[in-house]
Order: sequence, then C-alpha cells, then structure tokens
Amino acid sequence: AKQAIVVGAGIAGLASALRLRHQNYEVTIIEQNNYTGGKLHAINRGDYRFDLGPSLFTLPYLVDELFELFNKKPNSYFNYHRKKNICNYFWEDGQSFSASANLDEFISDASQTFNEPIENIKTYLNKTEKKYQLTSNLFLEKSLHRFKTYLSLDTLRAIKDIGVLDLNTSLNNVNEKGFENPKLTQLFNRYATYNGSSPYKTPGIMSMIPYLEMYQGTFLPENGMHDISQSLTKLARDVGIKIQLNTKVNSIKTFKNKARAVVTDSSEIEADIVVCNMDVFTAYQSFLKDLKPPEKTLHQERSSSALIFYWGITKAFPELDLHNILFSENYKTEFDHIFNKKYFYKDPTVYINITSKEVKTDAPKGHENWFVMVNAPTNENQNWKEQTTYIREKIINKINRILNTRVENYIATEHVLTPVEIEKETSSFKGSLYGTSSNNKFAAFLRHPNFSSQLNNLYFCGGSVHPGGGIPLCLLSGKIVSDLIDHDHSK
Ligand code: FAD
Repeated sequence: AKQAIVVGAGIAGLASALRLRHQNYEVTIIEQNNYTGGKLHAINRGDYRFDLGPSLFTLPYLVDELFELFNKKPNSYFNYHRKKNICNYFWEDGQSFSASANLDEFISDASQTFNEPIENIKTYLNKTEKKYQLTSNLFLEKSLHRFKTYLSLDTLRAIKDIGVLDLNTSLNNVNEKGFENPKLTQLFNRYATYNGSSPYKTPGIMSMIPYLEMYQGTFLPENGMHDISQSLTKLARDVGIKIQLNTKVNSIKTFKNKARAVVTDSSEIEADIVVCNMDVFTAYQSFLKDLKPPEKTLHQERSSSALIFYWGITKAFPELDLHNILFSENYKTEFDHIFNKKYFYKDPTVYINITSKEVKTDAPKGHENWFVMVNAPTNENQNWKEQTTYIREKIINKINRILNTRVENYIATEHVLTPVEIEKETSSFKGSLYGTSSNNKFAAFLRHPNFSSQLNNLYFCGGSVHPGGGIPLCLLSGKIVSDLIDHDHSK
C-alpha cells in the first residue's frame, strides 16, 4: 500500500490521517510532543482537571463523520450533549444576560433585556443565516485555490448576492447598523474573536459566525474538550494508524518535484504523500526550509493569542455557566491594544469557562475549575512576566467588581499559559491561536492553500492554512486535503 506521513497530531492532522487511512494508505503520524491533540490538550492540578485550549465546540457531526467512515458507532467512542444556554454575559453597570440556545427564546429575551425592537434582532439573525449559507460551501468546504471551485453554481449565487455579504464594511459597522443598543453590538462584535480577529477590522461577512452557535448549537463532550482529540486518537490506533510520539520532523528529502521522505532525529521515513499539520509559517522555517517560502502568504497578520489562568476555585458560583463573558467597557480600545499597541489594556474582556458545571468529576464537590482567558497580542518578545502580573490583578479586580466577590481568596491551584508557551508547545508562530487573522477582506484568499505548488505530493492542513483556525475549520481542512489527494493521486 502507499505510505502517507502526517507531520503533527493536531486535530487536523488526526482528521487527515483518518481520511487517508480510509483511502487505504498506510498512515504514520509523527508528533514532536509526548501527547496527541496539539492545542486540544488537558492537564490535572490536584483534584481539578483543565482543558488547556479550545472550550467551545460546534458542528460535532464533523467529528462523528470520522467514526462513521470506518462503520464505527460514534457514541461508542465519543459522547457529547447540546447546551441549552450559549453564554452568560456581564457588564460593569450590573446588567447581565443569559443567551438561550433556543432561537425564539433568544430573540424575545434579548429584545426585553436590551429594549431592542424584535424586528432588528430577527433581521440580523436572518442575514447571519443567509451569509453562512451563501458562502460556507464555497469558502469552507473546498480548496479556494483550485480553479474548479470558481466554476460552481454556489459561486454564481454568492456573486449574485454579493451585497448581502458586507465585504466592504467592518463587522462593527454591520452590528452598529443592526442594533440600537450598543450592548447588542458588543455581544455580536465578540464573534470576531472566534477567529482571532478584531471586529473593527474584520469584514461584515463575519456576522455569519454566530450562525454556528445560534442555529447549529454549542456542545460539550462528556469528559470535556479533551475527549475530541483523545477519542480520535483511539480511533486512529484502532484502524491501524501508527502514531510516533516524541519525534520531531527536521527535514524533508525530495526528488524532482516530489517529497520522497521525511527525516527525524532517529530515522528517515519514505513517503508517497506528506501532509503537514504544523503551523505553516514554522514549517517553512524548519522542515521545509529548502523550499521557496511563499513570502506574501507567510507575512499576513497573525491572529490574536491568549493568556489563560487555570484556577482551582474552592467555591461554587451559581450565576456562572459553562461559558461566561465579562465585557470591557471600552471594546474598541481593547482591540487597539491587542492588534496595534501589542500589550494589555487595563480593562480587558474576561472569558471564564467552567467545565465542572457539566462534568462533575472535573472539580471536587462545591468547587469549580476555572479557565480564565483574556485575548492577548501575539508574542513580540514583550516582557510577559510583567504583563502577566499586570493583567492578573486587572482580571481579579474585574471579576470582584462584577460578581461582587473576593475571588483571590478561593484560588487553590494556579497554572498559567502565555503566548510564549502557546508558541513553544505547539510551534504556533507568535503564539497565534488561529493562524492568520481575518482582519481584511482578502484574508480567505491569502491563507496558504491546502497543497504545495512546489512538491506535488505535499499537502497542508490545520488552523494556519485554508479554511482557517478553530476545530470545525481544522476538521474541514483534513477533508479538503484528503479530497485533493484522492483527486490528484488516485490513478
Ligand atoms: P495544532 O493543535 O496546532 O497542532 C499541531 C501539532 O504539530 C502539534 O501537536 C505540534 O506539536 C506538532 N508539530 C509541530 N512541529 C512539529 C514537527 N517538526 N514535528 C512533529 N510534530 C510537530 N478553537 C475552537 O474551535 N474553539 C475554541 O474555543 C478555541 N479556543 C482556543 C483557545 C486556546 C487557548 C487555543 C490555544 C486555541 C483555541 N482554539 C479554539 C483554536 C484551536 O485549538 C485550533 O485552531 C486547533 O486546535 C488547531 O489544530 P491544528 O490541527 O491546526 O494543530
């Protein structure tokens, strides 16, 4: 059988490996860390368990599909449930809002809480749905860099309705126009951060992101987010994929315009197909350094990073849910700090994720496992020790003001992840969470394609290439890569 090598066991690497295995390739995944999952990893601290990376899970069918490929019942590996509540939002003036996952309930609650005409909310959400439906097939499910993509009926539909897509205005402008109450604008501006962008720069088409949460739902795996990478790892082993941990790929051997083998510290492994799942910027600087780097693509602005405190909390907070947001009073200035000034703003938006609300074993009874995250600038060698101390105090003060507590008295354990560790642990250039940002309307076209223009058996998947970052898009990149390989090499 033909040999395929996947460099990196991130979520997209696992998905590509499984799909290639399904095409009868002998597949080996080579991963530098001693665990699979990449950014989808977890730790234990005392009696608390923490998911280290992603906390929001949408489009679970993209995971289920991978089990179904091998005629396995997804729920014999992986179980999850749909959330009834999307997120609890809090503002400094004492207002709070629980966003229901039931669309009608959301519309009537939001209209009441924010004194917003129902029609505004309905019109906005209808456009959200329309944008998603016009573009998802075109922008998310196919290679954008193959001519064939442009010859489809979907392209014609999207062109016909191009005005609806709001490409020439910012997400913030669309939201300001859509709502009378600035709090609703802020609530819908936040979706820009789902791909590490700024609502004041990212185009209005991004108002399709809430479609996923509000129409398709948000989910949580039974044992937390780590279940996603671990159940796929188990499936990979069960279907005969070899996973080589603690092994770094250092270079690639080529012959004419083909990759011939990948080289690690200990061996040289021959390959018919090579799939690169690591951050594409780092890849061209490391194991692909003999290839000509696509400069323009690689110098796109990076998405934002994050700074996260993982706190074991010795108290229960009934006003909080799985997802909680404590908004900054000056969102625009906060984003200006993240993307331009490149240090923290004194009043950050604080996200608190608490899986123990749903997964009872994640914290002792009456306690909670808090994942407290602020959006952060990319790593530009700032003084992170100083920045961490500074922002920790601001976060604690904000939580105390809004929740009327002294949270510092309840922190039993603490673990911290800064952009530096995110960069180091997953080789993500500058610690970006989602590869490149979507801060301009051409971003989708300027992401690295899923194939190499230099080596005709080298492919790319993962958050730094098309269609972009986040679990669902990474899973789709695995699908696009396997479709391309099937198309290019099946004869
Ligand atoms: P990665 O996870 O980046 O993994 C790449 C792998 O390649 C790593 O395991 C790395 O060790 C390996 N590697 C690198 N170089 C080499 C080498 N030379 N040899 C061998 N192996 C190598 N997404 C969501 O959908 N929802 C969220 O709520 C969300 N929140 C996030 C919060 C945080 C704090 C972070 C960090 C990310 C978040 N994301 C979220 C983004 C999401 O985690 C990523 O988009 C996704 O996990 C990236 O997967 P990937 O396949 O691109 O690979």
